[in-house]
Amino acid sequence: MSKLPSPSNAPPIDPATLARVASAFDPARLTRNTPLAPFTTFRIGGPADLLFEADTADALAHALLVARETGIPYLVLGLGANVLVADKGIRGLVIRNTSQHAVWHDDGRVWVESGAVMQKLILEAVKRGWSGLEHYVGIPSSVGGAIWQNLHFLSPAPERERTMFIADVFHSADLLTQENERKTVDKAYMAFGYDDTVLHHRADIVLAATFQLEKGDPLAMHRVMQENLSWRGSRHPWLDWHPSAGSIFKKIEGVGAGRLVDSLGLKGYRVGDAQISHIHANIMVNLGSATSADVIALVKHAQHEVREKLGHQLEPEINFVGEY
Ligand SMILES: Cc1cc2nc3c(=O)[nH]c(=O)nc-3n(C[C@H](O)[C@H](O)[C@H](O)COP(=O)(O)OP(=O)(O)OC[C@H]3O[C@@H](n4cnc5c(N)ncnc54)[C@H](O)[C@@H]3O)c2cc1C
Repeated sequence: MSKLPSPSNAPPIDPATLARVASAFDPARLTRNTPLAPFTTFRIGGPADLLFEADTADALAHALLVARETGIPYLVLGLGANVLVADKGIRGLVIRNTSQHAVWHDDGRVWVESGAVMQKLILEAVKRGWSGLEHYVGIPSSVGGAIWQNLHFLSPAPERERTMFIADVFHSADLLTQENERKTVDKAYMAFGYDDTVLHHRADIVLAATFQLEKGDPLAMHRVMQENLSWRGSRHPWLDWHPSAGSIFKKIEGVGAGRLVDSLGLKGYRVGDAQISHIHANIMVNLGSATSADVIALVKHAQHEVREKLGHQLEPEINFVGEY
């Protein structure tokens, strides 16, 4: 999915099919031709034919079953922090996952629906004295997105020598499998890797997850959060002001995608309103009205320069979704 998209001219979905799908949903939670830019951290993207807000795990499972039974294309969207939505938008059904119910157990396990925002979950865990999630503070993600990606960050200050993964605190997940079966799976099933899980290879969707946390000292957790937030703040463009999708290219072991781009003096280089950030060469920012076409042209430019001048092939890390 992270290869650059080729232009697609898929025929529009016939209105009768869209109407049939729409009739299976609560009309209060379904909209048509809704621009998706506000539902992504890049603030880029055209309309979804149908946009459904799933506010429970059951509603998410229902939406998936409807889409699969009708054969209409669908996309589950968490916080939209790792996607570039096409300017022409997305044909079919976009399911925006806002399910967030959580159940806290006395032994440090927390069961939480997959649309929960990590930020809120982290604060609640810290308040309750459960440690393990605080390292991921400041990373925009839903629980489902975090598992999809095996969310990661560098270990606590001052060492920051190893990468910590959400897999470390993962206990189990409730899935709707690609065979439409609801089942609870363990860590081995998820096949966690670097920026990789079984979810990249099968159409399983996470409905809810259980994390196993440890008793911790809230003051120590607050310290980790402060250190991580200021570490990020000093290295990344500020999302509220400069929307982005985080790192645009995959890590190149030992070399660093950002370092390659930076070494060619490309910080600040711009196509339309898409720009290579002045403070982090592996992040592209939206200066206001960037389009997906601007971002793709910028990606191609950086790839071309790095390939021609340094001999490395940069691979995009983000997901290109929709009709390009
Ligand atoms: C400023 C910034 C900083 C970032 N820093 C980091 C970082 O330090 N570490 C890091 O690992 N990432 C980082 N990222 C990337 C991003 O935060 C993660 O990829 C995050 O996990 C995306 O979650 P999401 O909910 O936004 O997923 P989305 O972008 O909404 O979706 C991404 C993919 O996950 C799939 N998906 C979403 N929910 C589910 C589900 N319930 N079941 C199955 N599939 C699902 C979607 O269909 C899509 O294919 C950063 C991004 C930004 C914008």
